[in-house]
Amino acid sequence: MKFYVLLVAFAFSAISIAQNTYLHCGKLIDTQSGKVLTNQTIVVSGERIIAVNNGFTEPASNADVVIDLKSKTVLPGLIDMHVHLESETNPKKYLESFTLNPADVAYNAQHLAQITLMAGFTTVRDLGGSGVNVALRNAINAKKVVGPRIFTAEKSLASTGGHADPTNGYNSALVGDPGPKEGVVNSIEEAKKAVRQRYKNGADLIKITATGGVLSVAKSGENPQFSLEEIKAICETAADYGFHVAAHAHGDEGMQRAIMGGVKTIEHGTMMSDKTMDMMKEYNAYYVPTISAGKFVSEKASVPNYYPDMVAVKAASIGPKIQSTFAKAYKKGVPVAFGTDAGVFYHGDNAKEFGFMVEAGMPAIEAIQSATVTNAMLLSMPNDIGEIKTGFFADIIAVNEDPTNNIKTLENVLFVMKEGKIYKE
Ligand SMILES: [Zn+2]
Repeated sequence: MKFYVLLVAFAFSAISIAQNTYLHCGKLIDTQSGKVLTNQTIVVSGERIIAVNNGFTEPASNADVVIDLKSKTVLPGLIDMHVHLESETNPKKYLESFTLNPADVAYNAQHLAQITLMAGFTTVRDLGGSGVNVALRNAINAKKVVGPRIFTAEKSLASTGGHADPTNGYNSALVGDPGPKEGVVNSIEEAKKAVRQRYKNGADLIKITATGGVLSVAKSGENPQFSLEEIKAICETAADYGFHVAAHAHGDEGMQRAIMGGVKTIEHGTMMSDKTMDMMKEYNAYYVPTISAGKFVSEKASVPNYYPDMVAVKAASIGPKIQSTFAKAYKKGVPVAFGTDAGVFYHGDNAKEFGFMVEAGMPAIEAIQSATVTNAMLLSMPNDIGEIKTGFFADIIAVNEDPTNNIKTLENVLFVMKEGKIYKE
């Protein structure tokens, strides 16, 4: 009896989603093989791709929809492993901790998420905010608001005075002494508590600030800020919850501790030495370069009062170095995962990173693969996103030119579909 009820229910749902979408693609990038295919048809039903055919196949039913992308190049939705959807750079940013209420942050984040999706990024990893990013992920998943699929670290972990201590530089009468609940840890026990708190708060992964950083109001942009034991405790506890760990790191010593401690990705990696590059390969840790952020902060460092004085000094010295570190790391064979640090620069400009990677010596197709198949694997979705293939989510974008000939075409995405729904045409 139960079986019949199920069958009937299935039949009804099948009728209600009978309309399939046929995308006629002039060129289509196979991100797995790295080949550019010509004249392909993608058939989408509901949220998924149900077929990829050679040639332009005509729809089976009158109810079906045909989308003509014959003059475009089509590729899977892009994945950015490093964004901050809750905020965006502006000269008043440091005041916003005091002037914005959580509701303001939430509306801003929703707006910025929409901009990100329209730029062709259908999945992102949010590497730290106030916790609004968790609610935003849930609202997007529930289709209440528009944005990319989000994997979020919720709040970054730091030690006291470290890069992600939320009270750095503020009037001490106005701020308390944050602890593991707020992501600030100073011992192995606190490290475990902070990870478990992130689990409780709804995070998907853990982010640590293994060294100083540019935009925090603190003296050093590169000193190590966790002990190896603390990082190990974080990574081991994170593994209990199925979380991987991402480490912000500019300085070499903190980077090495992070790699030995068990993190999966190194963000920025500015001062990465040859020895550390070899360690990245040995431990199979991925380098998320964020060249875009480095370039943006080094430009703004010379604009009077854009950053606090202490920050401007660090921005000028650290920012310009990332691209050459990336060039060296790529040549040495360090695994690379595409990520930008959008929020440090303007959301929606994420795809500029591709041009910077290619400029530094990475072939265009490999840059595209780093933003699709590689990131899908790191996010444990290798059979759902990052490729245009039967059974995968219909996360599909289109651009005017073949990006393997002109990578900059990715900065102008003309068509965006996420989970079978068209957001930009
Ligand atoms: Zn960041």
